[in-house]
Amino acid sequence: MYVQNASHTEDVVAAAPTGPDFPIVIIGSGFAGIGMAIQLKKAGIYSFTMFERASEIGGTWRDNTYPGAACDVPSHVYSFSFEPNANWGRRYAGSQEIQAYLLRCVEKYKLRPHLRLNTAIAEATFDAGTGLWTLMTDSGERVTARVVVSGVGGLVDPAAPNIKGLDTFTGEMFHTARWNHDYDLTGKRVAVIGTGASAIQAVPAIAPKVGRLSVFQRSPAWVVPKGDRAISARLRQRFRRFPWIMKILRTLLYGFSELMGPIIFLDAPWLSKIGERMSERHLQASVSDPALRAKLRPDFQFGCKRMLISDDYWSTMERENVDLVTDAITEVRAGSIVTADGREHAVDAIILATGFALGLATAPFPVTGLESRTLDDAWRGGAVAYKGVSVAGFPNYFIMMGPNTGPGHTSVLVFTESQIGYILQAIRQMITGKITYLSVRQDVQDRYNAGLQGRMKHMVWSTGCSSWYLDDDGSNHALFPGLASEYCARIRKFKPAEYEVVRS
Ligand code: NAP
Repeated sequence: MYVQNASHTEDVVAAAPTGPDFPIVIIGSGFAGIGMAIQLKKAGIYSFTMFERASEIGGTWRDNTYPGAACDVPSHVYSFSFEPNANWGRRYAGSQEIQAYLLRCVEKYKLRPHLRLNTAIAEATFDAGTGLWTLMTDSGERVTARVVVSGVGGLVDPAAPNIKGLDTFTGEMFHTARWNHDYDLTGKRVAVIGTGASAIQAVPAIAPKVGRLSVFQRSPAWVVPKGDRAISARLRQRFRRFPWIMKILRTLLYGFSELMGPIIFLDAPWLSKIGERMSERHLQASVSDPALRAKLRPDFQFGCKRMLISDDYWSTMERENVDLVTDAITEVRAGSIVTADGREHAVDAIILATGFALGLATAPFPVTGLESRTLDDAWRGGAVAYKGVSVAGFPNYFIMMGPNTGPGHTSVLVFTESQIGYILQAIRQMITGKITYLSVRQDVQDRYNAGLQGRMKHMVWSTGCSSWYLDDDGSNHALFPGLASEYCARIRKFKPAEYEVVRS
């Protein structure tokens, strides 16, 4: 039996059923970490511990509680394929409903005993002699693991915008991912800085409540309609009675997203035009004022920045109490925001919808692999990993949602689940083959990445807009340049020949 209440993590890991030889550490308890944990349990591997720096599981869906927070991928495909949910209340579930789904998964698969909350991993070092990773927690505790699975996510830590005087603001200020629910926005003069995926959900949700809402837009984005609506009680009952309907629905939703894929990610102006026309029709239907429409219409190719999906963002901009401010912010003062045209916008509260410090391109904490090389060193020229999962020189260390595995057009969980399958195969091979460590071959990794980067020139992401997709040098180490089906096919089978295999 799994030992609970052990006084030391090393005891907990070592006492699990697969024995002291095979302790596994999962870092992070968002969709990736939870999915990995469930599949390990299903495979009969219980010797894992999941470390979570926050006080509850959930990742993105624990942190993003801003009004209107929801997934812009349909829920029947944005959920685990092995854990369909007949009770989704809306086509696009809100963050609370998704978090409740994850909590149910944790209880159903009895993951709590494997969970170490409020414990951040601060450092990881591999020892080639023993084939073990030593991990240090933020409280100085030492944990050893044969395998480390990193599910820390990329869009986690709020990005603080570099705006002069921001710290001198004396009103209320918070980031969308750290919403202050104790602050009542009713009747207040509120500024939202940023117009990305988070802002376009929060703005329509708070606009009816606030006194005056000023939305500060640095660059507009293509928005397409969402078609969100409640799922009727009758349909939910059908899903419960005939779960195969959900499978068909999932396949259809996924298939549709894959069909749309080339419109969203290829640098083919004739395909981009299809998306642009769809968005333009939505703009015409949502906004009657041509001057406002002109301000909201992007000048870059469809898909270059993440396409936004909303039924009511653009129409909200025409509300009487909402202003779209397109002049650049020059300064924030104690009670106002000053823009380049010299105007001073008096505000009571500033909401930063300014996105995240991207964690994909850097190691989440110091990670030291073979020959004392750090992951930051290995990624100095941009983050690379074989199939986004394994990095040469970092044995038995698997990354979920690693470099070049982000989708711009479909559910990220399609990628996550195929990574789980791949890592599970590797772990099984290690256990049955008595392998001390596996390290992806440098030549295999280089060939894979040269192939991916070679394809980037056909992608729309570097056609002249700025986005979190791109590194400072303009290279893309975030997204996969192709269909999810291609990625899944390529990662379907773990091939030991692609790894240096060391047995003791
Ligand atoms: P984001 O897409 O990075 O948007 C940040 C916004 O802040 C942009 O409009 C940016 O302007 C603006 N901004 C940043 N710094 C600024 C500054 N100093 N002054 C003025 N404006 C500034 O962030 P996000 O909206 O939080 O979304 C991040 C990602 O999270 C999304 O791309 C998506 O992958 C994910 N997300 C998903 C969902 C979902 O429903 N699935 C919902 C929310 C978020 P520029 O465009 O000019 O840089």
